[in-house]
Amino acid sequence: MRDGMPEGHTIRALGDQWLAHQNERFVLESPSHSVPGLQDLDGQELTEVATHGKHLFLRFGQGWLHVHLGRFGRFYWHERTRTMPEPRAIVRVRFISESIWVDLVGPIAVAVVNEHQKDEIESRLGADPLVKGADTQAARRQLQASKRAIGALLMDQSIIAGIGNIYRAELLWRSRVDPYTPGTSISDELFEQLWHDARLLLEAGVRDYQANEPTHTVGLPLPDGSSPLPAVFGKRNHTQVYQRAGLECARCGALVQQAEMSGRTLFWCPGCQVL
Ligand SMILES: [Zn+2]
Repeated sequence: MRDGMPEGHTIRALGDQWLAHQNERFVLESPSHSVPGLQDLDGQELTEVATHGKHLFLRFGQGWLHVHLGRFGRFYWHERTRTMPEPRAIVRVRFISESIWVDLVGPIAVAVVNEHQKDEIESRLGADPLVKGADTQAARRQLQASKRAIGALLMDQSIIAGIGNIYRAELLWRSRVDPYTPGTSISDELFEQLWHDARLLLEAGVRDYQANEPTHTVGLPLPDGSSPLPAVFGKRNHTQVYQRAGLECARCGALVQQAEMSGRTLFWCPGCQVL
């Protein structure tokens, strides 16, 4: 089972999946005729794949296809050995090469963009923890200048790109940070810790996705160097607080709480997230 809300790790894993088809020539169809300019990319080779946070860019010939899956978008992959039916009306783009056909359904954004427009989209995004050597200084300054809650700031893609609802909850629990702490109270050291832990979780998430496993954080080494806690008992045992409201925290025994923050449900433990 995969969680239905793509975070940065999902997009990175999808990017790798596309990269396996680099240099293949693709027929591109939009059954709903809803992607202007798609005909310019039709019949071209896939030459480059780029990801930035939750954004995926596929280069066909001289242009890029920009895709943001949002919460419900998906690619459906098929080998060409399977019969290819007529696309359903909800298919935004069908990609057909000699080896595969892929249907893109339900993205919040799909558009043909040029190099300049791609740069413009990326300039609005913060640093991506999955990019080695990413410049963290701008992200740290923006975060520390804000009075908004850290739980909201971690979801702000213009500060750090790629963290979604699962990982904001897990990151804050792992570093014992109260999600309502304002950005102005986050020290340099704590920012660095959160950044490195975000990378660790996102990289683990890429591996989970590739193995078709649920996103898990239980068992990953904690930032304070303590031993990973044993898997906790409950309806979801692969996360520590995410979707575990009302269950006991594995670290302190207090009950995990939930509340709305940034339009999504936040989960945290009031017993041990006190920083
Ligand atoms: Zn706790």
